[in-house]
Amino acid sequence: MYTIGIDMGGTWVKIGLISSGEIMDVTIMPAYSSEGLKAKLPDIQNAIDQLLLQNKVQQNQLTGITMAFPGIVDTNNSRALSTNGKYDDACEIDLKGWCMENWNLPFYMDNDARMATIGEWKYGAGRGLENMVMMTIGTGIGTGVVIDGRVLYGEHFQAGSLGGHFVIDYKGRKCSCGNVGCVEALSSSFFLKTIIKEHPALSDEFKSGNDRHTFKDIFTLASTGNKDALLLSRECMDIWSAAIVSYIHAYDPQIVVIGGGVMKSENIILPYIREKVGKLAWCPTEKVRIVASVLGDNAAVMAAEYSILNGRKNNEYASA
Ligand SMILES: [Zn+2]
Repeated sequence: MYTIGIDMGGTWVKIGLISSGEIMDVTIMPAYSSEGLKAKLPDIQNAIDQLLLQNKVQQNQLTGITMAFPGIVDTNNSRALSTNGKYDDACEIDLKGWCMENWNLPFYMDNDARMATIGEWKYGAGRGLENMVMMTIGTGIGTGVVIDGRVLYGEHFQAGSLGGHFVIDYKGRKCSCGNVGCVEALSSSFFLKTIIKEHPALSDEFKSGNDRHTFKDIFTLASTGNKDALLLSRECMDIWSAAIVSYIHAYDPQIVVIGGGVMKSENIILPYIREKVGKLAWCPTEKVRIVASVLGDNAAVMAAEYSILNGRKNNEYASA
């Protein structure tokens, strides 16, 4: 049997054909997420049909379609509840109906960071574990949590998902969520240009260098000894570490898995964060392991198979 997993990223949409925990085939297309989800659905539909055709998969070999979505999702009804600058029309769209109409298949939708967590838990760095936290540091910062072998959802579907909005500095920069001083506002790619512009200790020369405005460039420059890049990269790693200490105190995991674009520099980031968190987290019995994502960009798509069968209270299809 096969499952289709869609990952609605802010920049790219990824669609994977999954079978027995493997990605059989994948399609990637530009997202144009600010233009909304409705405008994107015909392209997604074509891409899915193309994937099925290419791989000679018949409709009766499919268990369903899942969508990893960058917002808060009502997983009981597979509907977006709240968005934040990406696919802002999604709350109005009946995706279950869209899926039924086009393929007569079950549909399941969840928050993207939570689905990435499920992917890593079932097929990646968290395999076989009962307690884990995943932190995805990309354009924004997302998290997902598994406690005692269960994915965390909560009353309003947001438990474990809002780790990017844990407050680091209550007097800090205004965040896109409306709060101030969130992890995301102080240390994500989305805010990086603002962080550099407003930083009181960075040199004017550094501020004017447009080519240094991605985390990868900043980490590369830091490794050559550039003082500004060193200061900035250490501050961001300190913020990520502070966030991880809070996740450890809140959720008591066996491991913390870090994913997202910044892990291109994992050889610098992982040792730094391990040392910092090792010193600061209150774990009297055993240190929490901090590891890199194994599945990388595929984590949310890989969750498709597990989620369509086990998604929280899923839908009428789960027990069918
Ligand atoms: Zn926030």
